Amino acid sequence: MNIGQEVLQLLKEEITEVEYNRYIRQLLYDTKKSTSDLAIFYAPNALVLKWIKNKYTEKISHLFEVKSGEKVTVKIALKNQIDKRKMKQKVEQKSGHSLLNPSHTFNNFMVGGSNQFAYAAVKSVSEKPGQTYNPLFIYGGVGLGKTHLMQSAGNVFQNQGKSVIYTTSEQFLNDFIRHVRNKTMDRFQEKYRKCDVLLIDDIQFLSNKEGIQEEFFHTFEALKGVGKQIILTADKHPKKIGGLEKRLQSRFEHGLVADIQPPELETKIAIIEKKCEINKVKLSKDIINYIATVIESNVREIEGILSKLHAYSQLMHIDITIEFTKNVLKDQLQENRANLTLDVITGHVAKDLNIKPSEIRSKSRSRNLVYARRIAIYLCRDLTPNTMPQLAQYFGMKDHTAISHTLKKINELMKNDEDFKVKIEELTNKITSSS
Ligand code: ADP
Ligand code: MG
Repeated sequence: MNIGQEVLQLLKEEITEVEYNRYIRQLLYDTKKSTSDLAIFYAPNALVLKWIKNKYTEKISHLFEVKSGEKVTVKIALKNQIDKRKMKQKVEQKSGHSLLNPSHTFNNFMVGGSNQFAYAAVKSVSEKPGQTYNPLFIYGGVGLGKTHLMQSAGNVFQNQGKSVIYTTSEQFLNDFIRHVRNKTMDRFQEKYRKCDVLLIDDIQFLSNKEGIQEEFFHTFEALKGVGKQIILTADKHPKKIGGLEKRLQSRFEHGLVADIQPPELETKIAIIEKKCEINKVKLSKDIINYIATVIESNVREIEGILSKLHAYSQLMHIDITIEFTKNVLKDQLQENRANLTLDVITGHVAKDLNIKPSEIRSKSRSRNLVYARRIAIYLCRDLTPNTMPQLAQYFGMKDHTAISHTLKKINELMKNDEDFKVKIEELTNKITSSS
């Protein structure tokens, strides 16, 4: 027996027989690729893989440590997936940008009131690149389909043989830094200025980064000058990003700015039906409606739920019932929140308001810090089980009355200021969907 099998035997003693037979028995240990600090297992299919990964990775890693005395990272994968991902990573590293996801197409994108404007804009650009709206700027909350839409246009262009660069602004920055370091800026410039279409995702990341903004400005001007199409996405309207050079902000607004709103119920239902069709999952109308009403807006969350339901039905060879769906949803919502710590929440608030987490926790009374601190406290209270004394300690405040005073203030603000309420909702959505 190899160490991987031995560890699984140990695990068998800790879990029920049903659990063992249903999931763990299907794992295969890779004796060749595993090392003393890396254990690789293979799961029989992609959906089961996710299930096992969420529930058992930590336990398995702990048992390895018990057995060998060393800290071991556990990776669970599909056999060919590891190779595929490595290849993708290699291509991406070499080129400095990402590959398009071929299933992000217009056909797979469900249109409703919340996204029809953005959809129409991207569609029109895909038909007449460089001629209608240039740049096209799409903005909206997390998981609402910005990347999907942008890549749909990218796939159209790519299929026509055009050279398309899709990259996140973070990758763009890293690529820039690499070329500066290697003194190959001419190659960087040639690459980005030679493409037919430039897609840059999550541009808000460039906020407060002057060097790259300058470089991006020139890339932008060069492409636009010769009628090459540029599409950008962000989580906010260009005016609200903050820390952007004025000339960039005005360039971003110069073409068309289109927003995506959270999907209404019918659109959510249509999206779920589409995802079921693509992933070959059969769900009754009742279950689809139920999922659509429980999940607020983040479509990515819907996908997680579908893959869990699918994994279960595949393993058990049974139909998915509404009771089971309810359990999976409860699990998922709890899981999302279990990972949230005070640091994570404070980090999000700091990032959103362009300040440092340490400033939020400092004693400074400057207006914007007090504002940020209040929001962070409110969200920490709302999203974690921490008590008021615990929060007081974390935020360096005198005692729980200071926390309760803050919460009262925020509740008042939310009641009287619709914009502020939306802001808090957006932040909550961002935080809970990022974990
Ligand atoms: P964003 O970039 O806005 O955070 P994504 O484009 O990554 O969001 O979308 C998250 C997931 O939701 C993707 O898998 C995407 O395919 C799916 N999705 C979002 N909106 C729709 C839609 N209208 N129709 C179909 N799928 C959608
Ligand atoms: Mg995205």
